[in-house]
Amino acid sequence: METKYIFVTGGVSSSLGKGIIAASLAKLLQARGYRVTIQKLDPYINIDPGTLNPYEHGECFVTEDGAETDLDLGHYERFLNVYTSQANNVTTGRIYQSVIEKERRGEFLGKTVQVIPHITNEIKNRIQILGKSNEYDIVITEIGGTVGDIESLPYIESVRQLQWELGDNNAIVVHLTLVPFLAAAGELKTKPTQHSVKTLMESGLKADVLVCRTDRDLPDDLRQKLALFCNVKKEAVIQSIDVPTIYDVPNLMLLEGLDRVVLKKLNLPYDNQPNLEQWNAFLQRHKNPKNRIKIGLVGKYVELPDAYKSILEAFIHAGAQNEVKIDVEMIHSEYLDKDSVEDKLKHLDGVLVAPGFGERGIEGKILAIEYIRTHNIPFLGICLGMQMAVIEFARHVAGFENASSQEMHPEALYRVISLMENQKKITEKGGTMRLGAWDCQLEKGSKIHEIYGKTMISERHRHRYEFNDEFRKPLQEAGLLCSGTNPETGLVEVIELPSHPWFVGVQYHPEYKSTVANPHPLFVAFVKACLERKINKK
Ligand code: GLN
Repeated sequence: METKYIFVTGGVSSSLGKGIIAASLAKLLQARGYRVTIQKLDPYINIDPGTLNPYEHGECFVTEDGAETDLDLGHYERFLNVYTSQANNVTTGRIYQSVIEKERRGEFLGKTVQVIPHITNEIKNRIQILGKSNEYDIVITEIGGTVGDIESLPYIESVRQLQWELGDNNAIVVHLTLVPFLAAAGELKTKPTQHSVKTLMESGLKADVLVCRTDRDLPDDLRQKLALFCNVKKEAVIQSIDVPTIYDVPNLMLLEGLDRVVLKKLNLPYDNQPNLEQWNAFLQRHKNPKNRIKIGLVGKYVELPDAYKSILEAFIHAGAQNEVKIDVEMIHSEYLDKDSVEDKLKHLDGVLVAPGFGERGIEGKILAIEYIRTHNIPFLGICLGMQMAVIEFARHVAGFENASSQEMHPEALYRVISLMENQKKITEKGGTMRLGAWDCQLEKGSKIHEIYGKTMISERHRHRYEFNDEFRKPLQEAGLLCSGTNPETGLVEVIELPSHPWFVGVQYHPEYKSTVANPHPLFVAFVKACLERKINKK
C-alpha cells in the first residue's frame, strides 16, 4: 500500500502534548496492524539538540544510529517499541545546512536559492524519506512549535504543498489545541481554538481532525460549535482530557474514536478492533502495585524532571514489571555535603546516580556513592554516574588520592577517567561524542551477565570520556570488577563490586532502550534489588 501521511500541528499554546497524542495515535494504528512511525520536525536553528542545555529542551534522546534527538522520540519508541533514527528528527538548522551545502557544491548553479521552493523541497524530501523506505504504511509527522510562529511557516507551507501533491486522502492534518476553562465565566472557551484554526487556514491548511486539550469534559453542544466554526465533522472533534499517566492516553483516544476518524479520512479500513492486550496488561500492573519503594535520583537538574525523562519512564516500566510503585526522590548533587549525605540517603531503598557533563555537582555525586557503597544500598550508576563510582573507588579504596576525570580536572595526577585516543584531536562540540549503539561483551558469572542472561549485548552511548585502562589492573586488584568491555577496543563498559549486594555502573545508557513492551532488564533487576532490600530491612 502507498504510504499515508498524518501531520500533527499545534495551536494556542505550546506544551499541550503533541508528542503524546502522536505516539498514542500511532499506538492505536499499530495495534490495528498498520506499520507506523513518527517523525518530529523542530523549527530551531541548532543542527540537533545535542548541544542544547537540558534547561532549554529537556533530555537529549539518542537513537541506535547515534542521532542526538528531541525527547519526543523517546516517547515514540517507548509507545511503539520500534526504533527511530536520524530520519525521525529534523531541525531547521539541518534543513538549511543541507541546502547550503548543495548550493556550495553547485547543485543549484545559476538559480537564486529561496525558501520556496528550495527549503520547502528539502523539508518535503525529509518527510518522505521514511514513507519511501517501504517500511511503513503510515508516517506521522509532528510539527514542533505552534501555528503562527514565524519559524514554523516553511513547515506549514511544505505540508500544504504535500497535501496538494498527494491528495486529501493520503495526507491529513490533526490539529491539537487548548480549550481552557475560564473560572470567572464558569465556562469552557472555544475562541482560542477558532483563532488557531483560522491561522492554520491563512497558511492554506485545513484541520481534518481537532484534538482539544481540556481539564474537563467537552459537552455535546460545545463539540457541535467547534465543528461548525472550525469546519470539521463533529466526530472529528476529539477531547484529550488531563490524565494521571501518559500511558492512559491511547485508551482515551480509542474511546474518543481518534483512530477511526483518522482511518476514515485516509480511506483505510477501520472495522477491526485494535489489539491492546499487552499494553493493558502493563497498565494493569502499573496501576495495581503490591509494594512501594523509594529510589533516589542524584543529579544536578532536579528542578527539571524532563532532563531525566527516559530514566523516569524506565522506572515506570520496571516498576510495573515488579508490581511495585516507585517514588523517585530527586536529590540535588550540588547540595550534598558530608553533613547532609546521611540524612538525604539513609531512608532510600536504592540510588541511581545520573548522567551529566561538567564539574558542577560531581563532588556531591562522589559523596553519595561513598555512602551507598559503605551502607550496602543498591546502586546503579549511568555514564557520568559510573565514572564517579570509579573515581570514588579509586580515591577511597584503591588509595589514589584525589583521583578524578580528565573532563573536570585535566591536570589531576590520577585521571582514572580520561579522554579516548580518537577524541583527543576533536575540537568541535556538535555530534562528536561516542554516540549510538555499541557492542559490549559481558564477563560470565558476573552480576551483569546474570541480569542480561547473555554474553553479548548492544547498548546506546553518549559520552566523550572513558575508564582509563592504565588503572584497570590496580582497581581490579583492589576489588572492582570490570564485567563488561567493548569487544573491539577493550574499553570498559560495566563495573561492579562483588563485595556489595548490588552495585553496578554502566558507561552506556540503558534507559534509552526501555519500552512498555520491553522493560529494560537492568532497570528491572535494580528495582527488584531495591524491593528486596526494603523487604529484608523490615
Ligand atoms: N561527561 C561524561 C563524558 O562525556 C559523561 C557523559 C554522560 O553522562 N552522558 O564522558
